Amino acid sequence: MPFLPQVVVPSPLPPVAHWFVCGENEVLLRREGVGGVAQLPTLDELTGLDPADAQMVGLLDGVSCLSLHWPRGSAVPQGFEFVGLRGLWARLDETLFGIAGRANQLAHFASTHRFCGRCGAPTTRDAADRSIRCPACAMVNYPRISPAIITLVRRGDEALLANSGRFPVAFFSTLAGFSEVGESLEETLVREVHEEVGVRVDNVRYFGSQPWPFPHSLMIGFTADWVSGEVVPDGKEIKEARFFRADALPRIPPRASIARRLIDAWVKDVTGHETSGP
Ligand SMILES: [Zn+2]
Repeated sequence: MPFLPQVVVPSPLPPVAHWFVCGENEVLLRREGVGGVAQLPTLDELTGLDPADAQMVGLLDGVSCLSLHWPRGSAVPQGFEFVGLRGLWARLDETLFGIAGRANQLAHFASTHRFCGRCGAPTTRDAADRSIRCPACAMVNYPRISPAIITLVRRGDEALLANSGRFPVAFFSTLAGFSEVGESLEETLVREVHEEVGVRVDNVRYFGSQPWPFPHSLMIGFTADWVSGEVVPDGKEIKEARFFRADALPRIPPRASIARRLIDAWVKDVTGHETSGP
């Protein structure tokens, strides 16, 4: 059975559930755990946390998936550790990784909206939907989703890839950037590409999307065609960028990312072959 998103927390809490305890873009896992579900804590191992603060994420094979925020500075239970999102990718299967992302976004939302942004009064969570409301001035907030474009720019049989210097290992990836107020995604793409590497593009085509809820991004993938300009990295967001041929690729991102899916689709298109490596 696929994952089924749900909002209402079951009452009473189910004796068996997947508990996603989220810190700052990190999730609590058992240290010696092996393989997916077994790594998550059970409720009775979460001493010091109030299960009344739980948020329902959804049902996985009929089992409730619940999110709890871990307050900063609290002692981590013995035998457990917080694992950041890059480590999570390696330690949870794709489905649980996706649920962990949802849980993280909900926990982040709850922890950053405890007080009303307009009048400062303590807020309350609505039990029936995802909103957080202010009982004093009636302001309503929903979890924020921040759209960001990610794009593979083509020039003939080459593709533009860049190294941001932010990655733990130096690989070349597609260009990306957040939408600004009032922009269409196409306008974001044209602006970001020009800002980051100085080239002009057009013929923007939708490719696919990937949520990146650490804490609240949604990556929207496109391909685009180079029109004019030399590649000049901005030196801030981008350290190095150039056009590559599919038969002479640098190190590229891992397979689970939409960046890699964009690169793989382009390689398949120009060579008829799959990429190699993890
Ligand atoms: Zn208020």
